[in-house]
Amino acid sequence: MDRAYLKRRYLVSFEARRLPHIFTDVLVIGGGAAGLRAAIEAAKYGQALMIVKSAMTESNSSQAQGGIAAVLDERDSPALHVADTLAVGADLCDERVVEKVVGEAADHICELVEWGALFDSNGERFDLAREGGHSQRRIVHAHGDATGWEIIRALLEKARQTDRLKIFDHCFVLDLLTDPVEGGPGSACVGAICWHQRYGLQMIWARQTILASGGAGALWRETTNPPQATADGLAIAFRAGVTLADMEMMQFHPTALYIAGASRSLISEAVRGEGGKLVDKFGRRFMGDYHSDCELAPRDVVARAILSQMLKTAGTHVSLDVSQIGVEQFAKRFPRITEQCLKFGIEPGWDLIPVRPAAHYMIGGAHVDIEGRTGLERLYSCGESACTGLHGANRLGSNSLIEALVFGRQCGRGAGESLSLANDKLAAKDLSFVNEPSQRTEMDVLDIRNSLRALMWRNVGPTRTSERLAETLEIIDFWCRYVLDKQFDQPCDWEVQNMLTAARLIAASALKRTESRGVHFREDFPDTDPAWRRHLFVSRQSPP
Ligand SMILES: Cc1cc2nc3c(=O)[nH]c(=O)nc-3n(C[C@H](O)[C@H](O)[C@H](O)COP(=O)(O)OP(=O)(O)OC[C@H]3O[C@@H](n4cnc5c(N)ncnc54)[C@H](O)[C@@H]3O)c2cc1C
Repeated sequence: MDRAYLKRRYLVSFEARRLPHIFTDVLVIGGGAAGLRAAIEAAKYGQALMIVKSAMTESNSSQAQGGIAAVLDERDSPALHVADTLAVGADLCDERVVEKVVGEAADHICELVEWGALFDSNGERFDLAREGGHSQRRIVHAHGDATGWEIIRALLEKARQTDRLKIFDHCFVLDLLTDPVEGGPGSACVGAICWHQRYGLQMIWARQTILASGGAGALWRETTNPPQATADGLAIAFRAGVTLADMEMMQFHPTALYIAGASRSLISEAVRGEGGKLVDKFGRRFMGDYHSDCELAPRDVVARAILSQMLKTAGTHVSLDVSQIGVEQFAKRFPRITEQCLKFGIEPGWDLIPVRPAAHYMIGGAHVDIEGRTGLERLYSCGESACTGLHGANRLGSNSLIEALVFGRQCGRGAGESLSLANDKLAAKDLSFVNEPSQRTEMDVLDIRNSLRALMWRNVGPTRTSERLAETLEIIDFWCRYVLDKQFDQPCDWEVQNMLTAARLIAASALKRTESRGVHFREDFPDTDPAWRRHLFVSRQSPP
């Protein structure tokens, strides 16, 4: 097998002495909830530089709707939140991590309020919502369904007031720079090579680096994620030799707004929580055929039920009937969803909302310990690009924003504290790298991007089989041969190289896990196998 995805160490050739150099104590890659929180913390200890590839508002974090989970009611307790998280995680959660995140959650909500975040409340108490899988009301939300937007607004304002924190936006990180550790066997991360739309290629040298580059939803044709979620961080980490974990675990959300030709947007689970009913193309409510909890069954069950009903009725989608909630009440509780629907002439309450499942949240990522450290020296990771073990094989709704904040702060602190331990001096090294010129013909990269997304949806979606996964690997390997051997000079092409690499790892891991657990469902292995109560790891040194 030609493993093209293993061949490239760096996406572009470079010669250090010909490029501009920037020096910082801590480099943070990504400016969502995880990156912002990490950078604010790191700047307490030294110079911090945060890099984001597009505008600051374009991230999964700013799209988050439902809310952020924390124990804030006297009827609730950390033990209950821990138990709920473990129950959903299908025996793959790291209990110590769950206890850490749950234990620190309330403190992060208070901190956000201190920094100006306005959560929905009656003036004295938060208006706490309850979501599927949570035994108590513990979901803090803002402006009804704009929680992520409000959190990012508050964090960004805090970041802008933070001394020693610089932000570069529209700056694409291509790769982590690694250098052999003096006197040791391994390598350490010494920064990153990036491309700024105005200044071109630059080398950023950092004493510590934090990867907070978000998720991978854009690898699937149907996704709730914005188009920037192209799994760059996962591919970057893989090329640098970092071990990734649980790559087969992608959570699919049952209800994304389905308008053919338009990008999908999330219709929050809270809509079903408030009484929204799922009906098929004949107007028949069908969830009772699949689960006793009907519309409030676990996300993966609802997602598969919708796909099965679409197949049975030859429909392109099913619909949410929210007439019970009422037109005015719906608009008040879900202003962003209402706005989104109205753009397409759908008035929730009067009209049915067309929905179908979509890729939503990447559980797998850079394998980190409880302090957020990856296996590569001087590299931390947090947020959706990391795999901390909090979610196990399935994510409890509203647990990811809080994970991003808890591990963001942890990584910022860890990186900051190690600055005083290391006596290293920042200096540009004479790193250079030359890619062999391609011997193969060119392919249409945009077409491959679209075809890959269709393939991932068809074969590596909510239901999988060994036959379809094997076919996927064959096709991806073919594309990799023609795309990964080229040297491009634009982010849209580098993104496709990253998407192919990450998709390869995801499909291979999904093929390897011959059981169904949490979000990973194999039609040919529908049962959970106790022998598989373990994580799957992949790395350059030990490829799938
Ligand atoms: C529609 C939607 C609704 C959601 N609702 C909820 C919810 O209600 N509650 C909840 O807990 N979770 C929710 N989630 C999940 C949650 O929002 C994310 O898991 C979380 O925000 C991830 O934060 P992050 O900081 O890790 O990544 P992101 O917020 O995605 O940030 C990633 C950052 O990395 C940068 N980046 C990526 N690649 C590069 C590169 N090559 N170079 C430079 N920069 C790069 C991006 O520009 C961006 O700034 C939702 C997600 C979506 C998509």
